[in-house]
Amino acid sequence: MTSDIEIARAAQKRPIQDIGSRLGIPAESLIPFGHDKAKVSSAFIDSLADRPDGKLILVTAINPTPAGEGKTTTTVGLGDGLNRIGKRAVICVREPSLGPCFGVKGGAAGGGYAQVVPMEEINLHFTGDFHAITSAHNLLSALIDNHVYWGNALDLDTRRITWRRVMDMNDRALRGIVTSLGGPSNGFPREAGFDITVASEIMAILCLATDLDDLERRLGAIIVGYRRDKSPVFARDLKADGAMAVLLKEALQPNLVQTLENNPAFVHGGPFANIAHGCNSVIATKTALKLGDYVVTEAGFGADLGAEKFFDIKCRKAGLSPAAVVLVATVRALKMNGGVAKDDLGAENVEAVKRGSVNLARHLENLAKFGVPAIVAINHFTGDSMAEIEAIRAVAAGLGSEVHVCRHWAEGSAGITDLAEAVVRMADKPSDFRPLYPDAMPLFAKIERVATEIYRAGEVTAEKAVRDQLADWEAKGYGNLPVCMAKTQYSFSTDPTLRGAPEGHSVHVREVRLSAGAGFVVAITGEIMTMPGLPRVPSSERIRLNEAGAIEGLF
Ligand code: ADP
Ligand code: MG
Repeated sequence: MTSDIEIARAAQKRPIQDIGSRLGIPAESLIPFGHDKAKVSSAFIDSLADRPDGKLILVTAINPTPAGEGKTTTTVGLGDGLNRIGKRAVICVREPSLGPCFGVKGGAAGGGYAQVVPMEEINLHFTGDFHAITSAHNLLSALIDNHVYWGNALDLDTRRITWRRVMDMNDRALRGIVTSLGGPSNGFPREAGFDITVASEIMAILCLATDLDDLERRLGAIIVGYRRDKSPVFARDLKADGAMAVLLKEALQPNLVQTLENNPAFVHGGPFANIAHGCNSVIATKTALKLGDYVVTEAGFGADLGAEKFFDIKCRKAGLSPAAVVLVATVRALKMNGGVAKDDLGAENVEAVKRGSVNLARHLENLAKFGVPAIVAINHFTGDSMAEIEAIRAVAAGLGSEVHVCRHWAEGSAGITDLAEAVVRMADKPSDFRPLYPDAMPLFAKIERVATEIYRAGEVTAEKAVRDQLADWEAKGYGNLPVCMAKTQYSFSTDPTLRGAPEGHSVHVREVRLSAGAGFVVAITGEIMTMPGLPRVPSSERIRLNEAGAIEGLF
């Protein structure tokens, strides 16, 4: 079988200027990085303001297996499929993080015959956006300790500094560290730590900012820590916002690449889907909507997290109105939701698929609450049996939902034209998008609304300290922000082993964090990892250069 990287390497790429010109982007508005990648200039993006928008289509998924269910692959495949049936479609996906490439998950540029290329570069250093975000983040970190070193005029309580450091690598050794050891000339020792770059608030800010001014304003609004009286200290108090915006100026411009079939794709921004909202940048999505008639994008994790945040954070804040949703399901994930263990997913098991389909049904019911029509895409794996697929079709038909079996991974656009036709029919009808809760609702009530309506929890619990914290933020003017739920992606509940469609469970909010620059309040349920580690046998052991100097082992 041909591996993803072999398929990607064999791609007949066109010069990036050709891809741009198909979208009407003049060559001088592209900032090329080599021959197959380019940023689109801010000036050109500004010039598009008066154009009408295309239709926005979200690709999301049921509760997944740990291997991923193919959201990115399906997003790319559907974009190619729409182009194949003659539509002007643009793809918007996230930039992969370097860390997971060397761990277990591998790359994130699609798979099989539905990939964006150059996949090696997209997965590795790409156009340097992650470097810029890491630098801007760590500049602020350095400025904080420097401020304390030179007398701490802002009176920061060094025990309450919340701004950490970041790097784009899975490195558990850096989760908790002590800084400033070695004597008075090195500052005041304190506990600190590293997160992975995608967990940086700056990543979320870059992805929600609408232009450079908005970016700088948001950077200034970052809370770096608190004084003894608990009042916040902002990045703008340290006069950090200007220099940070300078470091991010180029990174804010979206990256244009192509699919294996030479169709345009924006790959830009990649915030975590737990403590952040897990969507590609607003700037890329809005630019794509000005340039294409259909824009296909994805959101991280299953629909309980990804789609909810896409609607309630990204669409609400950016004023986007999605036209249709594609819910990706796989036979193996439905089996897992039907109680089959990870190692037994290969064997045919129609009954498990039927049992697991309650998960699919629950997601469809939930999506209807946002007023956007949804359709099911079965991402076909070679081992899937006809009987298993028929079982899914029967469940979805019972709910009045169309199901299309998609073979884009094996066949490229030719394997997904049915879904593309159906998506066009659906997206061209008027939809009635509405977020789940109004801005004005109190913060805890927003958390309860998501937990009861989407997760079907019976109750939401939280210590008094958490409730007091939320009340304090409301008093300080943050009450109108949306909430960003951090929950396991494997279950509707907070227990990753509770598959299917559990209800009446209890959601405990352990901690809340204010991302004042990004503009949301994070509600943390369970353990959330912001600096992953590497497995016993990291995939880096297989990554190397071959005799021809080409990269092997990335997947
Ligand atoms: P997600 O975006 O949902 O995390 P991806 O699209 O990144 O998932 O796919 C996860 C992995 O599964 C990738 O390595 C991809 O190549 C593989 N994959 C996706 N679809 C299929 C399929 N139909 N058959 C085999 N492998 C697939
Ligand atoms: Mg993905």
